[in-house]
Amino acid sequence: MNTERSRKLFEEAKKVLPGGVSSPVRAIKPYPFYAKRAEGSKILDIDGNEYIDYVMGYGPLLLGHNHPAIKEAVERQFSDGWLYGTPTELEVRLAREIIKLYPGIDMVRFVSTGTEATMGALRAARGFTGRNRFIKIEGGFHGAHDAALVKAGSGATTLGIPNSAGVPADFTKNTLQVPYNDIEAMIEAIEAYKEDVAAVIMEPVLGNIGPILPDEGYLKDVRAVTEENDVVLIFDEVITGFRLAMGGAQEYYGIKSDMTTLGKVLGGGFHIGVIGGRREIMEKISPSGPVYQAGTFNGSPVSMSAGLAVIDTLKKEKVHEKVNRSGDSLRSRLSDMIADLGLDYSVSGISSMFKVFFGDMPRNYQDALKCDTEKFNVFFRKMLSEGIFLPPSQYETNFLSLAHSEDDIDMTVEAYQRNLK
Ligand SMILES: *Cc1c(COP(=O)(O)O)cnc(C)c1O
Repeated sequence: MNTERSRKLFEEAKKVLPGGVSSPVRAIKPYPFYAKRAEGSKILDIDGNEYIDYVMGYGPLLLGHNHPAIKEAVERQFSDGWLYGTPTELEVRLAREIIKLYPGIDMVRFVSTGTEATMGALRAARGFTGRNRFIKIEGGFHGAHDAALVKAGSGATTLGIPNSAGVPADFTKNTLQVPYNDIEAMIEAIEAYKEDVAAVIMEPVLGNIGPILPDEGYLKDVRAVTEENDVVLIFDEVITGFRLAMGGAQEYYGIKSDMTTLGKVLGGGFHIGVIGGRREIMEKISPSGPVYQAGTFNGSPVSMSAGLAVIDTLKKEKVHEKVNRSGDSLRSRLSDMIADLGLDYSVSGISSMFKVFFGDMPRNYQDALKCDTEKFNVFFRKMLSEGIFLPPSQYETNFLSLAHSEDDIDMTVEAYQRNLK
């Protein structure tokens, strides 16, 4: 595979962009490939190579690249203008659609990113309860804002900086950490800081440390404990929302949270974030309440149009049924193959999320850190050189989309087999 143009461009990029990229996880070693265009399940690079894509924009592209329904909705909006600074009917319609699907959401505030959504949700929970502390899960990732960058997953773990420099200890002293799948630890943390824990924020399925699934009954226990202590339960469904099911992980597991954050899949590849929750909490948000939240691009008509088209397409094309079936089949083929090869690796995942952990099946962050990341990195580069684009980290989830065909999946399983051997 010739990637000479990408190599040269990265040399130039390093002079003008920190690390040569605009977001850390993209800094594939020794250099990333530069995209020229994408269609369906594939990306084409500037050297003319084609890749089957399992990164899918790190989550948003459940419908694949360039889905015609999203393209049409956005193009229609472009012809009417793309920023007004005054409300549109689109945001009212999209809000209603979301509220219908998520029983824990009575009202929403539209923002531009998942980062802003979790930042706003935490502020609202604190404003509502009048308490300061919040609990997050070790290895959980809630965007790149100060209070959440403690033992954070995603690129922070990959790069070995789960606690960012430049964040004063004063800003994170109210951030408590507990291991995933450990209800006793959560009860202890809540009891230790009784009367001062505003919220628990968690990804119901950990998605930023590879997919790690909740033990049977764990989410139900979290719901019970938070409710008993008047702690606001925030499900960060920026990955799982509209992916595990229309109603996200809360529909899939049958648990209602007090607040929910959404993003990624809902925007179909356009920037979006949603702060959602119970009416009495949401009414604390400005201008109806004292918790300040604002944004030039909040409720962007382009993103709202994309969001409506995503919801419509997910329903019409029975996307979850199809993609979840592909996911089940792919995971079981990978598991069988790994058993045949006699490797002590494990295949994790749910619905359209999957990952081969180079080690035992993890139940939490500490377990995941035991995986053989050096071997993973060698494997990753071999896969890339054969035209399979996986996320470049043991700790990022692989995503399937509606656009992945049987042929794509067959080729992928064969490539896994060759390169795991
Ligand atoms: C990606 C992600 C975020 C941050 O979203 P951005 O749009 O990248 O700011 C927050 N929470 C979770 C669970 C995520 O996966």
